Amino acid sequence: MAEVQKLTERKLRESDRRMTPQRQAVLKALVDLSDEHPTAEEVYQVARQYCSTVGMATVYRSLELFVQMGIINKAPTLDGTTKYELSKEPHDHFVCLKCGRTYEVNVGEKPKENEELAKEGFKVLNVSTVYFGYCSDCLSEK
Ligand SMILES: [Zn+2]
Ligand SMILES: [Zn+2]
Repeated sequence: MAEVQKLTERKLRESDRRMTPQRQAVLKALVDLSDEHPTAEEVYQVARQYCSTVGMATVYRSLELFVQMGIINKAPTLDGTTKYELSKEPHDHFVCLKCGRTYEVNVGEKPKENEELAKEGFKVLNVSTVYFGYCSDCLSEK
């Protein structure tokens, strides 16, 4: 928490913004839910326990801001719902076609640079491969 907190405060300062109690609550909720790839609604449910004046609109705005600042990423999902995660080392995702859960998986090293893309003028900052299929929970449920 402390590290994310410091990073967020620094980035807010750099863009002339303040760490408000509402933003703080959203950040705490993200840290709590970090492994679960929460939706904005799920972040809201936890954030309001930290700060009673947090509204859904504030949650959306804070999440967008954190994405722009590079503190969180949007994770891939099956149906296009937006899910969030704290930015960390590049990793892959597995999306279950049945329950729709987004899992984090690690399948080998991720190259930071991609020569093909660089040739076309793209600069790669993050790489994530998405695998689709059935998770073990769903497979054992048959
Ligand atoms: Zn599943
Ligand atoms: Zn992830």
